[in-house]
Amino acid sequence: MPLAAAPEELPHVVVSRAQVTPVIAELTLEPGGSAMSYLPGQYVLVCDEDYLIPVRSYSVANAPDPTGRLTLLVTEVAGGATSRWLTREVSVGDAVLVSGPYGTFVADPGAGHPVLCLAGGSGLAPVRSLAQDAVCRGVPDPFTVVFSGRTEEDLIDQDVFRGWEAQHPRFRYHRTLTRASGPPPVGRVPEVLPDLVPDLSEHEVFIAGAPGFVAACVRAVRDLGCRAGRLHTEEFYAEPQPWGSEEAGGSR
Ligand SMILES: Cc1cc2nc3c(=O)[nH]c(=O)nc-3n(C[C@H](O)[C@H](O)[C@H](O)COP(=O)(O)OP(=O)(O)OC[C@H]3O[C@@H](n4cnc5c(N)ncnc54)[C@H](O)[C@@H]3O)c2cc1C
Repeated sequence: MPLAAAPEELPHVVVSRAQVTPVIAELTLEPGGSAMSYLPGQYVLVCDEDYLIPVRSYSVANAPDPTGRLTLLVTEVAGGATSRWLTREVSVGDAVLVSGPYGTFVADPGAGHPVLCLAGGSGLAPVRSLAQDAVCRGVPDPFTVVFSGRTEEDLIDQDVFRGWEAQHPRFRYHRTLTRASGPPPVGRVPEVLPDLVPDLSEHEVFIAGAPGFVAACVRAVRDLGCRAGRLHTEEFYAEPQPWGSEEAGGSR
């Protein structure tokens, strides 16, 4: 059987970069030519046009839009080449290469199930894309987002999510703080979830973020009755790049 061709690398231009928390930057990329077609929740591979920066995966943080613009939420990882480049070094007007889309962290809009999304840090990216898509469709089914941050300054787009909640009776947004006091809920997602959404037997559940966050949330949602076939996870694990290592004989 012939192998499927790898998705083409599409040139994009950085049109904005803003620090949205002390460690997370939001970037907006505009297609230089063809726009990428993707489903809400999917991710792309990103690198520089000279192939000097390791290729890394980033979830698209907006629902598909007619301009083809992509937004990314990137956490700066200590010692990480690509995340540092994206959060600190790229400038407006710089070129980046984007390929994809990839991933199965996608919803079936016709399923008719209530949706619960759990996100930590830049794990909000694919969740924001799914939520924005639901809002564009008028939130046909109950849609709840629980976002976990350490302190208030880690909360991204609270006003956007609260605005969607005010406009759509079936949309709910909860933030929880893990290292600061404040109005409830306060504590890690597995601790606060039973009070927020006690029965998940009918829900489609989406969990995105660091591997430890995802693993803890998976245990919590299973305890609340989430069915295996309705659980979707996106772990932002660190990807090995053998072609960039000395053992593999140098750079790409
Ligand atoms: C499907 C998928 C989607 C992803 N989406 C996003 C996204 O939307 N936003 C985003 O910010 N990241 C996302 N990631 C993670 C991203 O692909 C990179 O792994 C991350 O940016 C680090 O790359 P780097 O080149 O900067 O660091 P690397 O050079 O890969 O790593 C440097 C050091 O940091 C460690 N490290 C790497 N990643 C992490 C981490 N997340 N936490 C703690 N330590 C780490 C490594 O083990 C290593 O020691 C996603 C990953 C996957 C697999």
